[in-house]
This record gives sequence, structure tokens and C-alpha cells, in this order.
Amino acid sequence: MTVEKVDTLVIGGGQAGLAASEHLTNSGVPHLVIERSRIAERWRSERWDTLVANGPAWHDRFPNMTFDMDPDGFASKDSIVSYFEAYAKQINAPIRCGVEVIALSRKPDGSGFIAETSQGTIEARNVVAATGPFQKSVIPPVVPADSGITQIHSASYRNPAQLPEGGVLVIGAGSSGVQIADELARAGRKVYLAVGPHNRPPRSYRGKDFVWWLGALGLWNMETPDPSTEHVTIAVSGARGGHTVDFRDLAAQGITLVGRAESYANGTMHFASDLAANIAAGDADYLSVLDSADAHIEREGLDFPEEPEARIIGPEPDCVKNPILELNLAKTGITTIIWATGYALDFGWLQFDVMDERGRPAHQRGVSKVPGFYFLGLAWLSRRASPFIWGVWHDAKYIAEQIAAKAR
Ligand SMILES: Cc1cc2nc3c(=O)[nH]c(=O)nc-3n(C[C@H](O)[C@H](O)[C@H](O)COP(=O)(O)OP(=O)(O)OC[C@H]3O[C@@H](n4cnc5c(N)ncnc54)[C@H](O)[C@@H]3O)c2cc1C
Repeated sequence: MTVEKVDTLVIGGGQAGLAASEHLTNSGVPHLVIERSRIAERWRSERWDTLVANGPAWHDRFPNMTFDMDPDGFASKDSIVSYFEAYAKQINAPIRCGVEVIALSRKPDGSGFIAETSQGTIEARNVVAATGPFQKSVIPPVVPADSGITQIHSASYRNPAQLPEGGVLVIGAGSSGVQIADELARAGRKVYLAVGPHNRPPRSYRGKDFVWWLGALGLWNMETPDPSTEHVTIAVSGARGGHTVDFRDLAAQGITLVGRAESYANGTMHFASDLAANIAAGDADYLSVLDSADAHIEREGLDFPEEPEARIIGPEPDCVKNPILELNLAKTGITTIIWATGYALDFGWLQFDVMDERGRPAHQRGVSKVPGFYFLGLAWLSRRASPFIWGVWHDAKYIAEQIAAKAR
């Protein structure tokens, strides 16, 4: 059996794998990227049809290529796929698609790694795991599979027509949950949206998009999440040209807001009585972003237009004032639950210990505790920006430099 040898093996051909390839080339490191499916596969097959980027095209991109569109617009998922395909060509990425790493082990003498792939064995001195920050969809075990309700994760949602007739309970009010709930309500579905703790920053304020403010306020560079907000999701949307997510607007559209989905028994879903508190905390966070932005403008003496109307918070909708605490799904006509409840990591192919005591990847800015093994693209790898298109490019540069330095 022949064994292919490469200096550095990059696993995963999404944005992280491509960024790694660009910087490895620039650092003179011979490498191979392998992708089990196609370039940017998750953007092709794990996102709904109408998804657009959460950030404007001037921001959600790599530095060395712009999107062929209005820079203030929000790229569709299909344009993002085309963008990364074009990017792979532009950098001449040595990428092999349709090859899956099934197992990765360390060579007994510690001099590198052996990857068992769907197309043979590859030996590498270094390995970069670029298999994504959001690898495995998570559906909490609340509603039994035999309950007669269709249950899907947001990663499997495509469009309203895919769902059986009837009402929909969307659980999770991060960017995916609110956008899917909004789309379903616009398609004429009766929608219930379970709203947990969230932040809902302004789409733009005083003439600048939220992603600009994250940069100006130094928040993209935050190195660790604030422990008090670690489990707080963020609701932003680039849909319909981009708009601030306001749960009052969703309620006005006919969506019934409910609290966090807590438990299910005998056909009835029970919700926590935290809806008003979650909405109030989201509002407070929203206003704090405006405060920080105002303070920045003042401090820097910037001549940005005033926007006092951004501070107007509407009255509480009835569903918040008098929250529903339980819903019999059949009686309410709910036939589908969409779990917009996030993702977990899945490193089942890794055959050596590179995790910390809590089972999370152990690393410093992606440099793992196993010499020659690197993580890229994980949430908070080096800072808040790490799992995003723009941020991963910068993390990849650091990893490539570490690999090149090791070779020297
Ligand atoms: C709904 C949603 C919307 C998002 N919107 C934005 C946005 O607007 N802007 C933004 O900046 N970020 C956004 N993100 C975050 C992030 O940009 C994406 O998650 C992005 O896909 C991460 O890219 P990646 O290359 O790190 O990982 P992935 O895109 O997950 O790529 C990893 C690749 O590795 C491959 N792979 C996995 N295991 C193996 C294996 N064993 N062998 C070979 N190949 C393997 C997979 O097929 C996949 O193609 C969004 C995320 C989600 C879930």
C-alpha cells in the first residue's frame, strides 16, 4: 500500500481551510487541503435557501477579494459559495474534494500524523483541523421522536414549503431562529417563537453598521466571552436588506412569543416564565450598544448624524405581558418544531488526546498541546472574530506562521 506524504495536511475546505491554504502558501509551507464534500459545503447544504450573510459584503469577506455586489448589501449564501470557489482558484489552493478523514493518529515516534482517509493513507508532519465551529446540530432531548411532531434542526430547514401544513414552534431566538420564524410568518404560517436570553444589537446606528461598531469599540478583538453572557445568543439579520431584530416587530407580524422551552409531557410544551425578562435584557443590551457608540463618537470627536429615534423602545406586546406558559401542540395546530438551538463540535475522527479536562479543544490561539496539531475556525480561537469569515483569515495567518517557524 502506498502512503502519500505531505508536509502539512489541512482538513476541511470551508473558509478556514482556504484561509489556511493561502497563508501556508505565503509562508512557503507545502500542504494539501482535503474536503470530504465540496468547497464551502456547509454554506451549500446546511443553510436555508434565502439565507444571506449577517454582515455586509464589505466586511464578511477575506481581505484579498471583494464580492461582486454593493459592499453595503448582504451576500446570499449562493454568492458566498461562489466567492469561496473563486477564492480557491485565485490562490491556486491545492484542494482535493470528496476525500474524508476517517481517523487521525500520531505516528508512534511523535514525528507527525497518519490520516486514514476515504481514499487511502496520508502522512503529514503537521495537521490543521479546519472542520468548522458549528459541526453537529444539537436538538435537546425534550420531545420524544415518536410524539408525532415533525422535528428538525435549523441546519435542516430550507424553506416553508418543506414543512408539513400547520403551525410551527421555533425554539431559539438567535440569528437563525428569528430569521426562520420571520420567513415562516411571512409565508402565512402560524408561528410561535421561544425566546431565551439574547442580545439584539442595532443593525446600524448613526450611519454605521453593527459590524463597524464592533471594530470601533474593540469588541471583535475580545479574547474571551464575558462569563455572564456566555450562554446569550445574538440575534442579527441581513435579511431584506438588513434590519435590527426587534421582538415587538415579530409579535406585530403575528408571531406569538413564548419563554424558553423547558419541558414536554403528554403533548404539551411548557415554557419558562422568563419571556419579559429576556426581552428586557435584550433591550438593555441594545441600548448599551447605543451608549457605547455615542461615547465613542464623543470621545473621538466624530461628525456622525444623530439618531435619537433609535432609542425609542415600543410597548410590550400582549404575548409578553400575558405570556403563554404551556401549549398543547396538537390543539394549537402546531405540526413542526424547528430547533434553532445551536451546534456542537465533533472530533470523532481524532484518535489522540488533544482536549482539556472538560472535553473541549485544548489550545493557545489554535496551537494545540500536541506538537504539529492545530485548530482553526473554532469559536473564540483567539478572539470573538475567530469563527467568522473575516476573523478566521487572520487566525490562519498566525497558524501558518507558527508552522513555518517550526520548520525553520
Ligand atoms: C446559519 C449560519 C449563518 C452564518 N452566517 C455567517 C455570516 O453571515 N458571516 C460570517 O462571517 N459567519 C457566519 N457563520 C459562521 C461561519 O462563518 C460558518 O459557520 C462557516 O461555515 C465556518 O467556516 P469553516 O471553514 O470554519 O467551517 P465549515 O464551513 O464548517 O467547513 C468545514 C469543512 O470541513 C469539512 N469536513 C468536516 N469533517 C471532515 C473530515 N473528517 N474530513 C474532511 N473534511 C471534513 C466539511 O465538509 C466542511 O466543508 C454562520 C454560521 C451559521 C451556522
